[in-house]
Amino acid sequence: MTASLLDGKALAQKVRDEVRADVSRFVAEHGRPPGLDVVLVGEDAASVVYTRNKEKASNEVGMRGRLHRLPAETSEAELLARVAELCADETVDGILVQLPLPKQIREDRVIEAIDPDKDVDGFHPISAGRLATGKPGLVPCTPSGCMRLLAEAGVKLEGARAVVVGRSNIVGKPMAQLLLAANATVTMAHSRTKDLASVCREADVLVVAVGRARMVRGDWVKPGAVVIDVGMNRDEAGKLCGDVNTEEAREKASFITPVPGGVGPMTIAYLLENTVRAARMRLGKKKGG
Ligand code: NDP
Repeated sequence: MTASLLDGKALAQKVRDEVRADVSRFVAEHGRPPGLDVVLVGEDAASVVYTRNKEKASNEVGMRGRLHRLPAETSEAELLARVAELCADETVDGILVQLPLPKQIREDRVIEAIDPDKDVDGFHPISAGRLATGKPGLVPCTPSGCMRLLAEAGVKLEGARAVVVGRSNIVGKPMAQLLLAANATVTMAHSRTKDLASVCREADVLVVAVGRARMVRGDWVKPGAVVIDVGMNRDEAGKLCGDVNTEEAREKASFITPVPGGVGPMTIAYLLENTVRAARMRLGKKKGG
């Protein structure tokens, strides 16, 4: 079997088009666009690119995207003050503080200072709790993008055996929660898992979010499985690659996401989706008192 590639680039464009249409409806209803505020502390080269892309992408779909750049020596108190201003601003619907933060700032404190109703990254413990308990809330963008890729491929999750490799708060755990909510039978694997290859071979749906170049080999994949490769790594030659050995896994899987062009583009698309969702959620709550 040679797997079909799940084209995240094309699907992300479709999601952005959907968001653009939704933004137009929002503007017609509320007389202003949804606002996304991205905060960057310092000059980390990758973070500068990511945050500019987020600002640009939000403006492209008709939102009011704004990037706040703070110097690398910003104190925790100064950053918390900026976050508090954004929480209080009625025209701000989504707040994203780009991670990692300089070492003088505790990331937990900052994440917890964001209003959960504006937490478009979905990293706040209240957002995680809402997801775990099936309450409406904001869900981390990368796992949301993975779920959309699965839906678009018509993958039946109910009753499927799903294995998620990696248990970070931003990818692995929320991914497992979403699969569970979709009635899959979910196993979470991590660095202490024994015989990871056998665990992976049980999966009808295998999601890998580890950060180790091409770790998952072809013979770890059950014939016909769907493989979602979240990893973004550079190999020894400096080439961008995932956590899965795609060439090998393609021979076994039915569907697989490429790297690049798989999960990556979906993350920003779902940040935009989350911003409109956050705007509607908050305005809906205000209306309801
Ligand atoms: P973290 O480093 O936070 O978590 C990695 C997880 O992988 C941990 O749970 C760790 O286990 C587990 N792990 C590490 N080594 C092994 C191993 N040998 N076998 C099994 N499990 C292992 O990473 P993230 O979740 O933030 O990111 C994972 C990958 O996804 C990275 O490549 C990252 O760049 C990429 N990524 C891509 C995004 C996208 O938009 N495409 C967005 C976010 C991340 P333990 O808990 O036991 O330490």
